[in-house]
Amino acid sequence: MAAKVIDGKEFAASVRAQVAEQVSKLKDEHNIIPGLAVVLVGEDAASQVYVRNKHASTIEVGMNSYEHRLSADTTESDLLKLINDLNNDPKVNGILCQLPLPKHLDEELVINSIIPEKDVDGFHISNVGMLSTGQKSMVPCTPLGCLMMLRDHHGSLSGLNAVVVGRSNIVGKPMANLLLRDSCTVTIAHSRTKNIEAVCRTADIVIAAVGRPEMITGDWIADGATVIDVGINRIPHPDKEGKFKLVGDVDFASASAKAGAITPVPGGVGPMTIACLLANTLTACCRSNNLAEPEGLTA
Ligand code: NDP
Repeated sequence: MAAKVIDGKEFAASVRAQVAEQVSKLKDEHNIIPGLAVVLVGEDAASQVYVRNKHASTIEVGMNSYEHRLSADTTESDLLKLINDLNNDPKVNGILCQLPLPKHLDEELVINSIIPEKDVDGFHISNVGMLSTGQKSMVPCTPLGCLMMLRDHHGSLSGLNAVVVGRSNIVGKPMANLLLRDSCTVTIAHSRTKNIEAVCRTADIVIAAVGRPEMITGDWIADGATVIDVGINRIPHPDKEGKFKLVGDVDFASASAKAGAITPVPGGVGPMTIACLLANTLTACCRSNNLAEPEGLTA
């Protein structure tokens, strides 16, 4: 039977609608408007698009958006000063420093200069530590989006076998920690894993976060498994010369013939990332004002 295709666009729209509803309540009941500050250093074309989209989505849900565009030759001390100002600005609940930064800036230092409570990307070392020890933290947006889709599809994840392919700090590791927190039995596979196809075939849930176009094929997938494809790869279009197309880390055609449910690329995990950034900003705002956290929008 063909797999159910999990529609990330629709899911992300519903997350954004829930955020907008909560933001409107915060305004009406507490006169609070959550604020997200996005810092962009330099002219990286892809980053400019992401920042523009983040700004538009933030405004759309009724939050305040503060954009800070700095030149590519900004010094580390000037960037740290700006982050310090944002850390101390009560109107700002979330701070995101768009990566990658120009090479002369120390990404780790910059990320760790954002106070953990406003670190809506969930990359601060304190948030990483709190997530891995099962404490309340800010959770990276892409894995949070995957978790929301999995919970929606399965209900409880308890006892399911999950294989996360990829061990990066921004996707693979936090994803594995989140699944562990939801009581999955978790395996993390990577470039040195032996018999990786057989490892994947043991999984009720496969998360692909590898960055290799269509690497995971149908024969890696157990009948009825859920496949979440995080990958975004731009490859030459097979039918249109000089054009490109986006594909995931999973070969959709063969995997969807085996899986019970699968996310497409594009239109799967991708749209969830910004939706979860907005959810995280709302969560940060509620926490800083000692208000109840929005249900269903946190890990
Ligand atoms: P990284 O390059 O940081 O990590 C890739 C991981 O895949 C590494 O752990 C690597 O293993 C593993 N890997 C590489 N080759 C193989 C292989 N042949 N077999 C098994 N494992 C392998 O990537 P990211 O985690 O940052 O991103 C992964 C994908 O997700 C990319 O396509 C990226 O574009 C996409 N992405 C999508 C987002 C979204 O919003 N949808 C957000 C973030 C990322 P090792 O550690 O051993 O080298």
